Amino acid sequence: MTAPTTTRPSSETADLLQQTAPSPRPVDAERVAALVTQLLTALGEDPTREGLADTPTRVASWWADFLSPHTSANATCFTETGVNEQLIVVGGMSVWSLCEHHMLPMNLEVAVGYMPDGEVVGLSKFGRIAQRNAGRLQVQERFTEQVAAEITRATGSADTAVIVRGTHLCMSMRGVRMEPARTISSRKGGRFRTDPVLSQEFLTLATAHWRTP
Ligand code: ZN
Repeated sequence: MTAPTTTRPSSETADLLQQTAPSPRPVDAERVAALVTQLLTALGEDPTREGLADTPTRVASWWADFLSPHTSANATCFTETGVNEQLIVVGGMSVWSLCEHHMLPMNLEVAVGYMPDGEVVGLSKFGRIAQRNAGRLQVQERFTEQVAAEITRATGSADTAVIVRGTHLCMSMRGVRMEPARTISSRKGGRFRTDPVLSQEFLTLATAHWRTP
């Protein structure tokens, strides 16, 4: 028997999410478009030429979309008895974010794992959690923390783990130009910290989806 229910955030994870929530202010698309026109001019371009005529409004509407990911805050959970000793891993998720230091794209491949504490989370929620936390100016390390905090909150289980592999255009196309460079970050809680066998099992399952660079 399963019944939908929701979990409450612990005060600790609620605090973390509070600190790192995106700005509640809406994007001023008109102003962004005007600033993009200025930027094009400052870059030596003619913003009135044919190819660029609609670029400022197009860019502004992209920013509005990117910074307004769906914010359905509560994950659907299902009470399920007898699943407490199972390791659940959801891998192969890929989201795009923007590095806040250079405002250049970063692709984040995400895998999460948890040991249910009497409740299991609808699997599609994990992708949405990743997407929502990617839709802002970010750094990979904070993204990893935020996803871990939200999964902990959604599952009501401290036994959670998140691993992220990032490809950062700020590394690949500027500066050191190391195209194949990948950045790995991981966050483990509860038994994933104390049980090396469980931790290793998670890593093996979580990274099985990763393409070689
Ligand atoms: Zn960067």
